[in-house]
Amino acid sequence: METLSALLYLVASICFIMALRGLSSPETSRQGNIYGMVGMTIAILTTLASPIVQSYWMIVLGIAIGGAIGYVVAKKIEMTALPQLVAAFHSLVGLAAVFVALAAFYSPEAYGIGVRGAIAKGSLVEMALGTAIGAITFTGSIVAFAKLQGLVTGKPLVFPMQHPLNAALGVLTLILIIWLVQSNSSAAMWLIVLVALALGFLLILPIGGADMPVVISMLNSYSGWAACGIGFTLQNNLLIITGALVGSSGAILSYIMCKGMNRSIFNVILGGFGGESAAAGGAAKGPQGSVKAGSAEDAAYIMKNAQSVIIVPGYGMAVAQAQHALREMADVLKHEGVDVKYAIHPVAGRMPGHMNVLLAEANVPYDEVFELEDINRDFGTADVAFVIGANDVTNPAAKTDPASPIYGMPILDVEKAKTVFFIKRGMAAGYAGVENELFFRPNTMMLFGDAKKVTEEVVKAMEA
Ligand code: NAP
Repeated sequence: METLSALLYLVASICFIMALRGLSSPETSRQGNIYGMVGMTIAILTTLASPIVQSYWMIVLGIAIGGAIGYVVAKKIEMTALPQLVAAFHSLVGLAAVFVALAAFYSPEAYGIGVRGAIAKGSLVEMALGTAIGAITFTGSIVAFAKLQGLVTGKPLVFPMQHPLNAALGVLTLILIIWLVQSNSSAAMWLIVLVALALGFLLILPIGGADMPVVISMLNSYSGWAACGIGFTLQNNLLIITGALVGSSGAILSYIMCKGMNRSIFNVILGGFGGESAAAGGAAKGPQGSVKAGSAEDAAYIMKNAQSVIIVPGYGMAVAQAQHALREMADVLKHEGVDVKYAIHPVAGRMPGHMNVLLAEANVPYDEVFELEDINRDFGTADVAFVIGANDVTNPAAKTDPASPIYGMPILDVEKAKTVFFIKRGMAAGYAGVENELFFRPNTMMLFGDAKKVTEEVVKAMEA
């Protein structure tokens, strides 16, 4: 039986690896999801069939409660609130790691790792690391959730001696782990939990504005390592492999996003080094002149007579669910012989790949969708940049204002197009809270209104 479950766990692990491989491209992502589901089904059934399981009622109760909550949340959640949901789920993974480690600490016999007060040293190290990473993930994810939900400000929250304090807490955690391994002391175990909870809170607090996407993927990575730690405690190879897959893929994604954002990954891991200047300045500067507001008819006329149009979707498109209307607009333009492309910024929207998912849902052909580095040069020759619900990702302050929270982030150079349309409801700033000077430029025309409604009006005007 043991050999069979080891074999099935191996098959499940391979499915998870194939799932990750599939998810790396929009074309194969559906297949990747299927591999993931098959792997998870094999893993769950194998675990349930294991002779270690002594009673099923607790498991069934857990599945019923968790499944019911998951069902309600999945039905209710808006696409735009997914990042918060992901952050909330990460916090639960972290908390689970802490609970499993504490359970193993107080009942080591049940886990075959020694007896209370004389737990094997290796197991104590695994347990302590799982606890510390889990607790950091828990509070860090709660702060990320609060920032994304708008419960606390998205700006970096900095205070004097923040970094020395974080460093001191990090060293203290290491000392406590050594104490725990030497003494089996429950005081040491609980102090690790408390210090790591504080550390998670303090590490994410100073990260603000445009750096939140990196934080989400970092927390994803942490939750994977926490699960990996639980895997060692439970001596479950599948959990070790799956945790390591989540941990390493999250770390790779964070690295890619840091590169895309022109940020140092160490600054993000260590809690927003460099956030001080951004917190001090760079906020909205107030009106910088007058804006030119246009109508859907103006936009329709200019775009129908254009040779090339580059569409830049952002968070507002997701809020308005304007992707279908947008594709319809692109279809009409293509029918008129206009060259249409979509430009995707790595942090547009509120989660990695947010825009790609929405455009794929509206059946936008993949070969019309371009990443920042592949399309930025084309704005110089484009007739129109149609910026729909995007703001920060086009803001030149990222290049010109060292005090801005988005300084250093590469942007889509929409300003180089002959005409730039900004579709948004008013003059509000984007997520980073920075005024966008492009709204006041002579080649910019604002199309005020809900992104879906305005796009539908443009389509109607083009068809009229
Ligand atoms: P953004 O800078 O947040 O701007 C979105 C704009 O959409 C707003 O200025 C808003 O202006 C407009 N808007 C909102 N609802 C709308 C609607 N129904 N119709 C039309 N317009 C609407 O968005 P972005 O340019 O996509 O940049 C993303 C930002 O989020 C970056 O700062 C990024 O770092 C951050 N972020 C990204 C992620 C990620 O993983 N992608 C995660 C967390 C944070 P009005 O209110 O005036 O309409």
